[in-house]
Amino acid sequence: MTEPNTARPMVRMAAVDKFFGPLHVLKEITLDVPQGQVVVVLGPSGSGKSTLCRAINRLEPIDSGLIEVDGRPLPAEGKELARLRAEVGMVFQSFNLFAHKTILENVTLAPIRVRKQPAAEARTTALELLERVGITSQADKYPAQLSGGQQQRAAIARALAMRPKVMLFDEPTSALDPEMVQEVLDVMTGLAAEGMTMLVVTHEMGFARKAAHRVIFMSDGEVVEDSTPEEFFTAPKSGRAKDFLGKIL
Ligand code: ADP
Ligand code: MG
Repeated sequence: MTEPNTARPMVRMAAVDKFFGPLHVLKEITLDVPQGQVVVVLGPSGSGKSTLCRAINRLEPIDSGLIEVDGRPLPAEGKELARLRAEVGMVFQSFNLFAHKTILENVTLAPIRVRKQPAAEARTTALELLERVGITSQADKYPAQLSGGQQQRAAIARALAMRPKVMLFDEPTSALDPEMVQEVLDVMTGLAAEGMTMLVVTHEMGFARKAAHRVIFMSDGEVVEDSTPEEFFTAPKSGRAKDFLGKIL
């Protein structure tokens, strides 16, 4: 496991509050993620895990508090926001590939449009990334022609093409058939080993134990526990975490 650089917080959240109408979904969240740290976010459905991820690349605006990525506050809009989104890669449960573009085009699109990379250079990088996630032979196919596991690996390659400083994964394997879960986790484990800063919402406890430096347990919009995987799985402190583990393990 690579060691995080604790002198450089890549994501910083301070007293972040978020409401959906009367519903208080993020309650005073304060959280620093150092460069190179892999954080697994656990918690029951509805506890605010997705909202937390979405707030970090401003897919959801927050109501109060501060979020910084690599030392810079989240911009509200415009070019600055586009640049931030490029720095924060996101992979969702549903693969979200562009259905009418090939896998290669899916990966080159944003680097060409947003990063203004020359097409040939974007293509070379894309092919390297497809190789890294093990789907080079699928480059000219359309998303619907790939298995779910291959599509999710393509989605990871697409996010990496923007050279993100941090990767957010929101239940990346939850929609996959069981036999395809491991191939996606393997790609994520590889990224973690290379020192990528990652925030991963997942129910894959094997991944949490093996790849995470840190486990955060959320319940009702709060961070209830923040510990090492070993502490969390062997000696959870709160009743809520014990209940949760009792249901999933
Ligand atoms: P999790 O990912 O942990 O399941 P979410 O972050 O998706 O939780 O949701 C947290 C709470 O916010 C839930 O009660 C959910 O119903 C609510 N919620 C999420 N998105 C919206 C939205 N766009 N509008 C209103 N309520 C929402
Ligand atoms: Mg969710």
